[in-house]
Amino acid sequence: MSDTNTRHVAFLGLGNMGARMARRLVDAGHDVVGFDPVESARNALTEAGGRAEPSAAGAITGAATVILMLPNSAVVEAILEDPAVVAALQPGMTVVDMSSSDPMSTRRLADRLAARGIALVDAPVSGGVSGAEAGTLTIMAGGSVDAVVAVEKVLAPMGTPRRIGDCGAGHAIKAINNLLAAVHLLATAEGYAAGLRFGLDPEVIVSTINAASGRSASTEIKFPKFVVPETYDSGFALALMLKDMRTATGLAAELGVPAVLGECAVGLWSAADADLGPGADQTEIARWVRDGSARATTSSASVHQAP
Ligand code: NAD
Repeated sequence: MSDTNTRHVAFLGLGNMGARMARRLVDAGHDVVGFDPVESARNALTEAGGRAEPSAAGAITGAATVILMLPNSAVVEAILEDPAVVAALQPGMTVVDMSSSDPMSTRRLADRLAARGIALVDAPVSGGVSGAEAGTLTIMAGGSVDAVVAVEKVLAPMGTPRRIGDCGAGHAIKAINNLLAAVHLLATAEGYAAGLRFGLDPEVIVSTINAASGRSASTEIKFPKFVVPETYDSGFALALMLKDMRTATGLAAELGVPAVLGECAVGLWSAADADLGPGADQTEIARWVRDGSARATTSSASVHQAP
């Protein structure tokens, strides 16, 4: 085992989620050394009591645990294959990928790291920026029992870890969960738009569904907090939701399992992503549906061409 400090946690990716999660670790007494290419993100960590390094390899050097909270698997792979990072990663370290990544990529990375004596635990989260802020995230961990147990104490200030299975299992269930969440959000947006057009009160629509069988996290949380007040600021980008949906439908395709409804939803979310552009919040799909853009899309062939 290399010369590592068990309190030293490297944290790569200090965005909407990572900034808040890193702050929870600082407050729990960890020596958090972070990296993000965005300077303001690095400064925010320093102001919160952590340390920032100008490179990923610099943050990792000497750490016992390396946490990733990055946009997608392509970025995770690019970092873990960067020669300076490869040199900084030493046997005995554990890499915890808390991003919502592709489970097949995670398995490949885990095999490569294991060959060097480095454990990979996938530990994606659910609970959004409010859960990250409060340390109440649901953490879906994948990895050997020993590896997951070894990182439980580091994960605890951010939420409740639950071992789902072997490496990749956390990323698989996270993608599946988000495909369901995206389908619910889109279906709720369509029902909500119809209710509004019928003349129903927005809050009455949501509260009634919440007392009936159509309820979901969309009606219980996303609509009351972000759609009805028209703030559309949940802190989760529409493009990231679409990435997770594609991960889930790609997984289904690779496994030979049909995902007809999921593919239809991917078609609609892709159209919303193209219309609303980068930076759109996931909840803006409700405005997009309400304003009739989804109807325009369904007249085009793409949405109907689910396999
Ligand atoms: P974000 O875009 O706000 O943050 C991602 C951060 O990664 C950015 O600050 C970006 O600069 C940084 N980054 C990009 N390339 C990097 C690199 N090479 N090295 C270090 N940092 C790099 O995204 P987010 O909302 O914080 O989401 C992060 C991950 O968590 C995603 O995989 C997302 O799908 C998942 N997630 C998000 C939410 C949410 O509510 N926002 C909830 C659950 C899961």
